[in-house]
Amino acid sequence: MKALVYHGPGKKSWEEVPDPRIQAPTDAIVRIESTTICGTDLHILKGDVPAVTDGRILGHEGVGVITEVGDAVTEFAVGDRVILSCVSACGKCSNCLEGLRSHCLAPEGASGIGWIFGHLIDGTQAELVRVPFAETSLYTLPEGVDADTAVLISDILPTGHEIGVKYGAVKAGDVVAVVGTGPVGLATIMTSKLYGPSKVIAIDIDPNRVEQAKRFGATHGVVSTDADWRDQVIALTDGAGVDVAIEAVGIPQTWDMVLDIVRPGGHVANVGVHGKPVELPLDRIWIENLHISTGLVNTDTAGMLTKLVAEGIIDPSGFISHHFALSDIESAYDTFSRAAETKALKVILNA
Ligand code: NAD
Ligand code: ZN
Repeated sequence: MKALVYHGPGKKSWEEVPDPRIQAPTDAIVRIESTTICGTDLHILKGDVPAVTDGRILGHEGVGVITEVGDAVTEFAVGDRVILSCVSACGKCSNCLEGLRSHCLAPEGASGIGWIFGHLIDGTQAELVRVPFAETSLYTLPEGVDADTAVLISDILPTGHEIGVKYGAVKAGDVVAVVGTGPVGLATIMTSKLYGPSKVIAIDIDPNRVEQAKRFGATHGVVSTDADWRDQVIALTDGAGVDVAIEAVGIPQTWDMVLDIVRPGGHVANVGVHGKPVELPLDRIWIENLHISTGLVNTDTAGMLTKLVAEGIIDPSGFISHHFALSDIESAYDTFSRAAETKALKVILNA
């Protein structure tokens, strides 16, 4: 088969590799129909994720058809169309039983981390992929949901919902601010609406992204290059700050921004993957009774989100900006890595 193989920082190629084979009775093999590129893949290509080694097939999002199942897989059969979760979880270890699937203790790859596709084992930017723990890591693709939209359930919709909205404890009436309106920020905005916030403020340096966010549920937008951006946000509250401030970028500046706009007693939910330490000015903010959270997506709400997409209650299909043939994935990387110029949001690869 062919796959997108990482060959060290800055190097990747679409090349011939051996087909994956069943290694454990709980495995399945899936023929990819639709996959995508994540910002995390760009981090890997920069060399920021040293656990990813030369020869690794990248990608952790995808939808496809099962072509083979291990002996222990009874819930799925050859021919089933499935959504792959970006987190592979055994469903049985103590962490999985506590709902902490992102820290599954099963010894696949390196134990203790559930994100292994395109990281510790071969991933989904390939014609075929081996899926460990198939029964607890695959979701049936419902009738009427197209594969390209369903790919967004592999990672970004659960990430925004779980690490942004649920950890941020968004509730009816809240004023919610989301800093960073890339695909993950947009997923956060869209799923926050499920809980009845009174206002959802989209904040980004890119005015085009701020405008786009209004198509997906933001009620207000603030361009953070404006000198008075903070005043604009505070003016949308009772003067004390937002109830929930969600960081979806991953840089020190945006971390400082969420601390600057949250009200006393409010929630700060960090979703961004940070490459450097940030400052936590406890001497100033200890008195504010804040709730601060962060984490790796568990994808335990992927099933619920799939139902909402199937019923048309949420529709993330508009996050898709570009389509490419899977074999043209190197062009897709080029477009995605120049998002500010190309206005790329989610690029979809079809086999
Ligand atoms: P992205 O790069 O597409 O979007 C980031 C957005 O932030 C862009 O719209 C950009 O214009 C904006 N931005 C940059 N600097 C800014 C600033 N100073 N002020 C305001 N806005 C600014 O990224 P994405 O794919 O949407 O992902 C967002 C973050 O979520 C990344 O850090 C990603 O690694 C992380 N992530 C976390 C998890 C998790 O499990 N916690 C899972 C997936 C992704
Ligand atoms: Zn587990």
